[in-house]
Amino acid sequence: MKTLVMKFGGTSVGSVEAIDQATDIVLEHAKQWDRLVVVVSAMSGVTDALIESARTAVTEEEEEAFRGIIADLRARHHDTIEALLPKDNEREKLLSTVDNLLDELGAFCHSIHILGEITPRAMDAITGMGERMNARTVAAVLRHKGGKSESVDATRLIVTDDKHQNAAPLMDKTRARIQEWLAPMLESGVVPIVTGFIGATEEGVTTTLGRGGSDYTAAILADCFDADQVWMWNDVDGVMTADPRMVPDARVIPILSSSEMGELAYFGAKVLHPKTILPVVQRDIPLWVKNTFNPTAPGTRIVREVKENRGKIKAITAIKGMSMVTVEGRGMIGIPGIAARTFAAVASQGASVLMIIQASSEQSICFLIPTPMTPPVVKALEQEMERELARRDIDRISSRDNVVIVTAVGAGLRDTPGISAKVFGALGKADINVIAIAQGSSECGLSLVVAADDAVDAVQQIHSQVILNGG
Ligand code: ASP
Ligand code: MG
Repeated sequence: MKTLVMKFGGTSVGSVEAIDQATDIVLEHAKQWDRLVVVVSAMSGVTDALIESARTAVTEEEEEAFRGIIADLRARHHDTIEALLPKDNEREKLLSTVDNLLDELGAFCHSIHILGEITPRAMDAITGMGERMNARTVAAVLRHKGGKSESVDATRLIVTDDKHQNAAPLMDKTRARIQEWLAPMLESGVVPIVTGFIGATEEGVTTTLGRGGSDYTAAILADCFDADQVWMWNDVDGVMTADPRMVPDARVIPILSSSEMGELAYFGAKVLHPKTILPVVQRDIPLWVKNTFNPTAPGTRIVREVKENRGKIKAITAIKGMSMVTVEGRGMIGIPGIAARTFAAVASQGASVLMIIQASSEQSICFLIPTPMTPPVVKALEQEMERELARRDIDRISSRDNVVIVTAVGAGLRDTPGISAKVFGALGKADINVIAIAQGSSECGLSLVVAADDAVDAVQQIHSQVILNGG
């Protein structure tokens, strides 16, 4: 019994053409697999619009502001459905279901407007609506094309804790629900179109699994069905060696370990979030990232561990908008607790630190944070270190804006001699100055800091001289 779980991301089911294409893909593979489970996201941009409607309901005096967003959502869904389905009873039923959901959204926003606040629980009820509308649409299109298909709200399947907006699945209960609700559907040859992103508590209150959570939904279902494969449909040919907007000759990476992918996700590349696919990776279920708009391209395969090509740089990413903060002074040498106090002060401002550098002489600690966080962080540090500054144990707390973190990613980099020589050789040849370096905290990343003006050049040089030369 061969089982395939497929997930279509927002752009893969975000327009008339995309839904047409996605449903063709489903029909084709429904014939080839014994069991096919499909997970869909909301149409691209819809989750953002839903969040915006709730926020607008709080912030704007005028009630009309959120009504406008809802009207746009209604028009987009109506237009899509009307373009994909002939005018018949089924279409009318679908349109009125969409209308009911959007009326419900209007009622939610109205009460949020009156109360002047949004609770995380209300936010979950609102943000899950995009998936609920879209799963129904996709299932109806499949039926129209002759397939056997039903939409299923994952609120019936995925039982979660009550940590709204970032809920975690309770796997045993979820497994039981899936056996009860989804297994019989599959036995009778129906392709279920499951809403991504949402679940519900045991009491039935809607929750969401965090942004981008449809990947997680697919992984949970794959785990419960012990699926043979998982395919994540996207709008790119796979995970790329670099951002193609920055590096026009970026290529698809054929195989990637989940920790390499994690490193890429952390550093801003548009790939799956490692947490969301953990259930699949742990079970060694083969997972592919594929392109709906180029379905015959092989895509990228994600595995638990790659054995070949260790110690090669596979991808290069850049995070812009960073600032480097430096705490320096000769009086810091050998004094315990400075680092702890530094990072406690940073944390007190809610800033997340993306990179830390401390030289062994202990004369300075540097770290990188997003630029908008710099003024409050520097202020908090000056307060925390007031005494040390007065005594000149710390000479200076300074910050430098307009820097970029460039990260080379590849499993085994830490244990392979010559990696930094390659990277710095490439940068040196191009006369690019490296401001700071960090390696070793993760097995598969080498990060360096360059001036924002040098970032694109740095990424391109490493890509062409190292990655295209075999890593
Ligand atoms: N629609 C949700 C989001 O935009 C979930 C997903 O697409 O994975 O975050
Ligand atoms: Mg996504």
